[in-house]
Amino acid sequence: MNVLYMFFLRIKQAWMGFWLEMQASSSIKSARIRARRPSLVSDISSRPAGPAPSSSATKRRVRRAPIAWERVIGIGVYHLAALLAFVPYFFSWTGVVLAFLGYSLLTILGINIGYHRLLAHRGLTCSKRVEHVLAFLGLLALQFGPAYWVAIHRRHHHFADRPEDPHTPVGNFLWSHFGWILVHGPNANRDSVLRRYARDLVKDDFYVWMEKQGRWFWLIVLLWSVFFIAGWAVELVAGGTMQEAIQFGASLLVWGVFVRTVIVWHVTWSVNSWSHHAGYRTYETADDSRNNVLVGLLAHGEGWHNNHHAHPRYARHGHRWWEIDTTWWVIKAMAWLGLVTDVVLPAADKE
Ligand SMILES: [Zn+2]
Ligand SMILES: [Zn+2]
Repeated sequence: MNVLYMFFLRIKQAWMGFWLEMQASSSIKSARIRARRPSLVSDISSRPAGPAPSSSATKRRVRRAPIAWERVIGIGVYHLAALLAFVPYFFSWTGVVLAFLGYSLLTILGINIGYHRLLAHRGLTCSKRVEHVLAFLGLLALQFGPAYWVAIHRRHHHFADRPEDPHTPVGNFLWSHFGWILVHGPNANRDSVLRRYARDLVKDDFYVWMEKQGRWFWLIVLLWSVFFIAGWAVELVAGGTMQEAIQFGASLLVWGVFVRTVIVWHVTWSVNSWSHHAGYRTYETADDSRNNVLVGLLAHGEGWHNNHHAHPRYARHGHRWWEIDTTWWVIKAMAWLGLVTDVVLPAADKE
């Protein structure tokens, strides 16, 4: 009981702190980003000189940040729609399988390889065509366009656990998990971070096209339509009635789109939150990154985050034999197929 009480107390404290921080953020007028200009990939892991400010200093530096209503509404709607998974009408095993496959595919190929290990850190090389396919899979996860995602992430490495970190975990857990997405924070200003941290990506017309904000509406309409219509049509072709076809299409929409998206969101967000809060440290990095076993498994290797902060360019995040890194297995398979080359590895793997 005591453990349960402490657990709820921690959740309550985190939630209260989150709201205080959000309210504080709307009381100050504006802020300038004081980022040191990094040379893109090579030195983003090098940290600014001087000690990290204290937690209270971090809170003082939380700036006024307008609420990003489109994200609040979008994320809210998806979470509410995902709850339909508990209604038996929307259940189908096909939907569950699609949710699992979609979660694995978009997490491993889209976010982990495409956005993170390839575009953000250049830990491997591939043809433009393969790169664009991976980036498009990342886009389907609805976590910003590749250039902005990469820019935010490079800034995170540059200032990890300091106030300038866009999703600094210092002071508040929920802020690092998803609070920072719900506002237009000063450390995540689109124009500034793209200019400073994604100059290589904004040279590519395909990534510029993906950054256009109006694309999101059509992408979402496309995703919803494809899953619903596919289920509806398959059921009709299989001899089902119109009601059965609508029910099957709805089950694919709920599980294949809403449940899958929410799972992938929380898995990725957990890398920013849990892997900076709980776990063990193999390397004495200047930040507070952790290797978190649960996030390591659920995020297909991204949870070995202390390893990653210690060696950001390594395409392999699991450094011990038991640190399972399924994304690394897929990279190895892609290298074997000749789809990727120049994989950056710990010295031991090169021998
Ligand atoms: Zn981190
Ligand atoms: Zn990284």
